[in-house]
Amino acid sequence: MPPIVRCPAEPYGGGWHGAPDDAHRPDARVDWLRFAPVQPVFRARAAQRLAVLAYHGVTDPRSFGAQLDRLRRLATPVSLGAVLQAVTERRPLPARSVLVTFDDADRSVLTHALPALNARGIPAAAFVISELIGTERPFWWHEADFLARHGGRARSLDCGHPSQLLPRLKAMPDPDRRRSLHELRVSADRRPPRQEQLSPADLRALRDGGVAIGNHTQGHPCLGRCDDATVRAEITGAHEDLTRWLGEPPIAFAYPDGGHDPRAEAVLQELGYRLGFLSDHRLGPRLPSHPLQISRLQVDSTTSTRRFDTILSGLEPAYLRWRGQPMA
Ligand SMILES: [Zn+2]
Repeated sequence: MPPIVRCPAEPYGGGWHGAPDDAHRPDARVDWLRFAPVQPVFRARAAQRLAVLAYHGVTDPRSFGAQLDRLRRLATPVSLGAVLQAVTERRPLPARSVLVTFDDADRSVLTHALPALNARGIPAAAFVISELIGTERPFWWHEADFLARHGGRARSLDCGHPSQLLPRLKAMPDPDRRRSLHELRVSADRRPPRQEQLSPADLRALRDGGVAIGNHTQGHPCLGRCDDATVRAEITGAHEDLTRWLGEPPIAFAYPDGGHDPRAEAVLQELGYRLGFLSDHRLGPRLPSHPLQISRLQVDSTTSTRRFDTILSGLEPAYLRWRGQPMA
């Protein structure tokens, strides 16, 4: 998520919502880190930490499979249930614990990730945008990018480089974002392509296949740009949808755009949520000290296994922070 632009986006991964946000992606020059003499030191330290990996879709199944093979060799894949148990019993997870998660849950989680995970016996969790389930609606950030490239205009977006479209939309108060999206829709000369989303039955298939389903709000706004009532409605609406589809309430939440929001945390506590995940590109303690603020590392299915190692060790995240390019 050129250098990473600091914005309220899910910083690299979710803020990196596909091609439009590629500008946020750390440059490939950090690949040299794999040769850094401190990498073994970081790797040893990381063994005593919890690594929660935050993926989005799986666009490169072969590379994703290689990453999972790497996890099987170097790490101890754990389930969401194991993290919950550790928190409940106040007992640290095993050394080298890694939890695989997916935000936004596009269809590739079902079609590409699930078979690869099952083939290796690796559990995972997926965080769902509930208002998209069972529809053919694209993610709003993909839609906005498409509309802007096909004649769409919005008053509040009239100036500025196209690469700044998403950062600007994400920085707006949420009512302004919604209004700008509407203006883009009515002014564009083409409609965006449909995007088949997961269905409620797909969610149950994922759950039954070892991918726990969590809440990622109803419509994926930047919660920090929403008023209190919207924060509550976004979380409770998705909570009710997921409870109806799955027959049980979800217990885990991923903050859309990765940033912690105390108002959201209060709603999560009211609803009985036990685990909440950030996108801060950090490792965390093996016994999460703030279970509703668990750190995650941003990865992508296209990440080379060598670079994957430097992310998993915490070296690349530390280097990016040192360079002043924090992920959140
Ligand atoms: Zn997201």
